[in-house]
Amino acid sequence: MIFKLLLAISLIFNAQASTHTSKMNQINFNYVANKTLFLENGEQVTVTYHGYNAVEAQAAFKSIQISSEYAQSFLKQNGFESTSCVKTHLNFYDVDTQTLHNKKLMTFIEWAKLGDNMIYAYFDSVDSPPGKVSIFMTAPKKYDPQGLDAAGRAKIITHEMMHYWQDRTCNKTHDVEIQADQYMNFISNHSTF
Ligand SMILES: [Zn+2]
Repeated sequence: MIFKLLLAISLIFNAQASTHTSKMNQINFNYVANKTLFLENGEQVTVTYHGYNAVEAQAAFKSIQISSEYAQSFLKQNGFESTSCVKTHLNFYDVDTQTLHNKKLMTFIEWAKLGDNMIYAYFDSVDSPPGKVSIFMTAPKKYDPQGLDAAGRAKIITHEMMHYWQDRTCNKTHDVEIQADQYMNFISNHSTF
């Protein structure tokens, strides 16, 4: 019993000291907001926005909502399961380009795989606390000269949200990057945002 208790304590400790949480605690976010997004098929996505202000939070929630809605039909059309196998909470972090590319801070990003490529965003479900996943997103241009405009951000968010739904529906044995890019193109042909 003592062993079990110790194990439980160490699991709790690991969850609290997870890479993302401890790394993101080093960044001072001006604004944090929670929202539950309700999809037409009855699914829900709970999101915590960490970033600049209420306006940016609402824009991010809107992109997450639209890309989640379209993800259901896209997965179905392509013969993939669209029902959730796990329900994961999404932490969305708006960070400036310098922070996103800070290899000492963002130790959980697979830098070796990326080579010299710049990244605009990163989805991770491995080093997140249990039941949670994270999207790290390049900041809006008005807060970061190297950042993205609203249309660019909305587009990149759809790519990352496909990774979210691949994870949530346990569809991960195919080429997830190709599918996320296909989804990004699919949604820009179907949506006005
Ligand atoms: Zn990707």
